[in-house]
Parts: sequence; C-alpha cells; structure tokens
Amino acid sequence: MHKEKTYRGVPASQGISIGKAYLYTRRQVNIVTTVLTTDEIENEIDTINNSISISLKELDKIYAISVEKIGEKNSKIFEAQIEILKDSIFLESVIKRIQKEKKSAAFIFNDEIEKLGNIFLKSANDYIKERYDDLMDVKNRVIRNMRREKLVSKVDEESIIFAHELTPADTILFSRRKVKGYGTDTGGVTSHAAIIARALRVPAVVGMKVISKFIATGDNVIIDGTEGIVIVHPSPETLEIYNTKIEGIRHHVSLLDEVADKPCKTEDGKHVEITANIEFVEETDFIRNCGIGLYRTEHLYMEKGDFPSSGEQIQEYTHIAAVTFPKSVTIRTFDLGGDKVLQQDSHKEVNPYLGWRGIRMSLDRVHTFKDQLKALLISSVKKNIKIMLPMISSVDEVRRSRVILEEVKKDLDSAGIYYDKKIPLGIMLEVPSAFVLSEELASEADFFSIGTNDLIQYLLAVDRGNELISGMFQQFHPAVIRALKKIVDSGHKHGIKVSLCGEMASVPLAVPVLIGLEIDELSVLPSVIPEIKQIVRAMKSSEAKALVGRLLKMPTEEEIKNEVEKFFETKIKTKIL
Ligand code: PEP
Ligand code: MG
Repeated sequence: MHKEKTYRGVPASQGISIGKAYLYTRRQVNIVTTVLTTDEIENEIDTINNSISISLKELDKIYAISVEKIGEKNSKIFEAQIEILKDSIFLESVIKRIQKEKKSAAFIFNDEIEKLGNIFLKSANDYIKERYDDLMDVKNRVIRNMRREKLVSKVDEESIIFAHELTPADTILFSRRKVKGYGTDTGGVTSHAAIIARALRVPAVVGMKVISKFIATGDNVIIDGTEGIVIVHPSPETLEIYNTKIEGIRHHVSLLDEVADKPCKTEDGKHVEITANIEFVEETDFIRNCGIGLYRTEHLYMEKGDFPSSGEQIQEYTHIAAVTFPKSVTIRTFDLGGDKVLQQDSHKEVNPYLGWRGIRMSLDRVHTFKDQLKALLISSVKKNIKIMLPMISSVDEVRRSRVILEEVKKDLDSAGIYYDKKIPLGIMLEVPSAFVLSEELASEADFFSIGTNDLIQYLLAVDRGNELISGMFQQFHPAVIRALKKIVDSGHKHGIKVSLCGEMASVPLAVPVLIGLEIDELSVLPSVIPEIKQIVRAMKSSEAKALVGRLLKMPTEEEIKNEVEKFFETKIKTKIL
C-alpha cells in the first residue's frame, strides 16, 4: 500500500482531474566527436539538411494543431522556432564548420545553438532568457531527427502528464491524447506550458520542483490546478473529498446555466449588475453572459517580459470586446509595480506598494501609456469598452490622463481611424486620499470602481500579502464600511455609477452590506458568479439598507460582523441552495 503524498506548486490552470500519471522523461541527446572522412562529411551534410526539413515539417504540423486548438496568438512560439530553422545564414555557417572541422553535424549544430543560447542566457531580460528553452527545444528536435528517434512515446488516453519540464510542443502534442492535466517541476504561471494548458482548459500545476523524481507512470493521482496541489496515491477518503469537489464544480456549472438568464434583481426589484474579474482571456468561458468589471492587463507585460506593442494589445482587446459583446468590458490600464515586477526590472524599491505603481508609472512613461490608450481606442469600435485607471491618488492624475487620452484621440482622428468617441474613462478608488477626495474625483471620472484589496491595505495599514497580520485585513472594519459609504454617496451625487471589484464582492457575507450601501455593480471571481447572483436575488434591498444604517453606527469589526452574520442567517440563508 502506497502512502498518500501531497506536492504543492504554482496553480497554473484551473480545474480538478483524477487519473493515472504518465511520467514523461526526455532522453538526453548524446553527442559523439569523431573526426570524419571526406565521404562521411557529405553524409553528415545530407543528414542535417534532411533532419532540418523533417523538423520543419513536424513544426508546421504542430503549429497547425496548435492554431486549431488554442488559436493563432498562443501559437506564436512555434512560428519563432520555425524561423530559426529557416535562417539560411545560420545553417550555412553550420555546414561550413562541418566541412572545415570534420566533426559530426550533431556536434556542430549543438555547438552553434549553444553559442546562440548563451547570448540569450546572459540577457538581463527574462523574456529573452526564456527563449533559451525554445532554442534547446529546436536543437533537441533536430538532433533527434538526425537519429530518426521518435519524441512522444505512447501515452494512454486521459493520463495526467508529469515531467521535469514541458516544452510548448510537448504540451500541444500530448493534448491530442486527451490528457487530463499537466504537472511540472519547473515553470511559473506565465510559462508557455501554463499558458497552453489554460488555453486547452486542462488543470495544470507548475513549479513543483521535485515531483518528477517521485512519481511513476501508472500512479493514481489527483491534480488540483485551482489550489496548485498534486496528490499521489490518494487515500479513499481523499478521493471521496475530491470526487465531491468535482461534483461541486459540475453543480456550479449547472447552477450557472440555471441563473445565467435570470435577472439580477433583489426581491424588491433593485437591479444589481454582476460582472467578472478576469486576468486571462480564457477565463471568459466561465462567465457566460456576464460583462467584465475588471480586466487586468498586467499579464500581457508579465508574459512578454516587456511592454506589449500596440498591435499585440489591439489583438487582445478586440478579442475580449468581441467575446463580451453586447455586454461591456472594463479594461484597466497597466497596474504594474507592487508585486507585479519582473526580476530584471532595474529599479528596486524598499516599499514597492507605496512606490512607482499603476497610474504613476503610466504618467511617467507617456509613450507606453499612449500606446495602450491607442490600442484601447482602436479596439472600441463595438462601443463596449470602458477604460479604468488604477491607483489614482489625486485629481491631477485624472486630469493629466484625460489630456493624454484626448491627444491620442486627436492622433486617431487625423489618421482617419474610427473609435468610440464617448469611451468612458473611470478610476479605481483604492488609495485613502482618493476616498477623502471622492467628491472632487466624481466630477472628473465617468465611473468609480472600488478596489477593496488595496483600499483596505492602505486604509488599515495592513499588507495584503502578509500572512502574519492576515487577521487584521478586515473587510468589516468600521473604517472600511464608512469609507465605502462616502465613496458611493460621492459617486451617486455626481451621477456616476459605482462598482466594487475587490475580492470583497466575492464574499457571500459581504453581499448584503454592499447592496445596502447601494453599490451598482459587483465584479466578482468567475467561480462565484452564480452564488453571488443567488444571494442578490434572495434579499430585499430595503432590509439591506436598514442593516447598513445600523452598521455605520458600530465602532468595532466584531459588532459589525455579528450583525451581518445574523442578517445573513435570518434573511438569506434559507432562501439559497
Ligand atoms: C483591488 O485593489 O481591490 C483590485 C481589484 O486591484 P488589484 O487586486 O489588481 O490590485
Ligand atoms: Mg488594486
């Protein structure tokens, strides 16, 4: 009897699967160095030319499968690999060296690619560093083809694949065997294998460091891509827990179907918009006919390791606007800084959360900001995009942003490019100074969206990521409730809508408070949309308002929480599933 063992890693693609493991180990390519005779040299040149044409055919095929399965944008990596093999100058230098040094094609090819790879590795840019792996992948493919070895051995359908590392090509090829998950020792959330797993919609856990050493083909495993957990040899009890979870997910999907078309209104007729918080385009699958209340664009920078071009952004924003249409999508301009920095970013700050973050960075890098605004405007032809600015702490920042937006609009006008002239420009309310100035800001912005993750962090001086003080991160702190009240009242006084897109909107217990505060829109995690919608439909806004009236007089979090719990128990719980 094997003992159950749990491995933790980075949750890279949502979902849970139970099945048999398949351990994928790539054989190391051994390269021998013997001096060749003249005949052998000709042979070697034929071998490499042949091998490159086989490799190109393979890559063309992989590219085609990839485009079909996960679309053109996610398949770019293979285009880059094809380009390397089509580089005639590079190949000529390999052939010349074979002739001159009389060494095997594999040896010279390996050496030349390694040289190129070392230049990549020395780069300070993480994106270029990551391209090293792509180069090695191409190299191994070509050398394997010189020996006519096959890459992927037979994998039973519906296996869960484990490997030290998976190349994008491995990930795509395995997907043809209907694999149910991917787990690797290496990689982060933006690694190619992770991106592809998300696009394929199979669970993935990456960065588990050692799992490939401890797992064997045929082992029973559970992979939980939402929590970032892999359980090997699960006990019957654990299996039962996870089967229940899978059942829960199925139930969630059917619930989603059930409530998807029902109006989101309280029992006494107050309409509340429920929208989704999205980080990756693929998540739009899980939101049905909801709009998007927060689309975070930072991942474009994190994945590329640099600012994406206008063209790349247009592709992304046009797509997201199209899949959300006729509902709208609120796209937030880059909120970089804080914990969202790349290792190579040269500026190191002692207090990054109080530093060069969000709108501050955009206003300092006007060129980058203009590129993003231009891409947003060009993508706005369906008139369902709203622009949102993060980390606003003064009126001046909104005014300067608007001036820049107007400049970009003028450029597009003179180029005769069509866009939504009335595109709304809203702001995130997440810095205490913004809440103090919410009246003034409401007359500058087209809408408000409250970011409670940061607002609570800054208002209560509690680091949102610090486990030691996580108990002090209190959503029901009286200062938080009163701040929310002031923001909503300021917004409504100036006739603008107020949304809330922090995690607080996804907490069932907080929903009656937010409705009572008269927040117009709750932007929540896709996974809780049906639950939150059910709660809204089960309550009376008049009762929620009365509840908030009582809460605003309470001096401690404990009292507020007790009162809210009592309300939830007596007024809501019995009416929801
Ligand atoms: C927030 O601060 O509440 C928010 C939604 O933004 P982020 O979590 O991306 O900082
Ligand atoms: Mg924030």
